[in-house]
Amino acid sequence: MIIDFLDAVLGESTYELWDKAVASAKGVYSNAQMKKAAVHAAERIREGGLVVFPTETVYGLGADAFNASAVARVYSEKGRPGDNPLILHITNTEQFEELANNPPPYAYELIKAYWPGPLTLVANKKFTLPAWVGGHPDKSTSTVGIRMPAHPVAMAFLKEAGIVAAPSANKSGKPSPTALSHVLEDFPKIESESSDITALDGGSATIGLESTVIDITGDHPKILRHGTITAERISLVTKLPTHDTPKNVAVPQAPGMKYKHYAPRAEMTLISGNAIDVAAYISKCAEESDHRVGILLQEKTRGCFPYPPSNAEILVLGGDDKAMARNLFACLRKFDQMGVGKIYAEAVNESGIGVAIMDRMRKAAEGRVIDV
Ligand code: AMP
Ligand code: MG
Repeated sequence: MIIDFLDAVLGESTYELWDKAVASAKGVYSNAQMKKAAVHAAERIREGGLVVFPTETVYGLGADAFNASAVARVYSEKGRPGDNPLILHITNTEQFEELANNPPPYAYELIKAYWPGPLTLVANKKFTLPAWVGGHPDKSTSTVGIRMPAHPVAMAFLKEAGIVAAPSANKSGKPSPTALSHVLEDFPKIESESSDITALDGGSATIGLESTVIDITGDHPKILRHGTITAERISLVTKLPTHDTPKNVAVPQAPGMKYKHYAPRAEMTLISGNAIDVAAYISKCAEESDHRVGILLQEKTRGCFPYPPSNAEILVLGGDDKAMARNLFACLRKFDQMGVGKIYAEAVNESGIGVAIMDRMRKAAEGRVIDV
């Protein structure tokens, strides 16, 4: 409990995050190759093209934030509803000033502590900007979501390209992509020679869950989407109470929250309770099922399945909450590849990063949770 609390409050420093992303990118590009790829991708952005790029959270599908037809194409390629806004990706605080109107002092405390990093700030938009910027070109929005990613490939690309609007690079509704191979599963045409979407590789995402989204338009920070920067860490640096988003609200706070999300093809159910009861319940469900069944466990529960049912595929999410965050979306995609008909997943302890992991798992399960 104390360890959970300390982890929730302290988390990983910006330097640690950066070093991990550098190590991941080094497996793909030398410095010279990275620079060349970034310059090429930025040219495509200036020509009105789309670019897939890695970040420490998930891969993004980006367009020039001020090019209406390119941004409209991001929505159509993904099949994304027009009322779900995009995140504007930046590399310096001057760009934040160009986009955000009169941000409160606590916003700068958050920037100092957590940028570059997995934190999106939703600010009032500068009146001088086009009404649609930050969302779909057919809509207008008074706020903009802004983030500075902690990934060397993203940084190199964005420094050349300028402000890039990007959602996650998956088909709408699918689990977010944490490796380039996941992006190619959803957009196979990228691999064809005639493709006009350019892709940058950065290795596996080191965080693997989307950024925490904080509304900074009020007197207090308000969480719109949970991520690895927890409410405790927001309050620690702002010295303000952080307002949370109630679970399962009828009216969603952030536009993206109302849609089916992160869902594998198989119907997923979360099972919550003590490890032994959860294991017994999942075994029974698997044995009674006519389908091949996917079972998603934590490391500590793996030992409860010495003789898994013959129709079961077991994947282990991880031994600690950072590993679980990193592996969740990849596990859901793996179950799709294995062709399982149903997934039973052990619920995760909802403290620290566990809050964000359970948020994604609940959505992937479309709210199906059984307490045993
Ligand atoms: P994605 O990168 O696919 O996770 O999508 C970006 C997410 O950022 C959206 O679904 C919203 O949750 C959030 N977001 C971006 N801009 C805004 C905004 N202006 N107001 C509220 N939420 C936003
Ligand atoms: Mg997304």
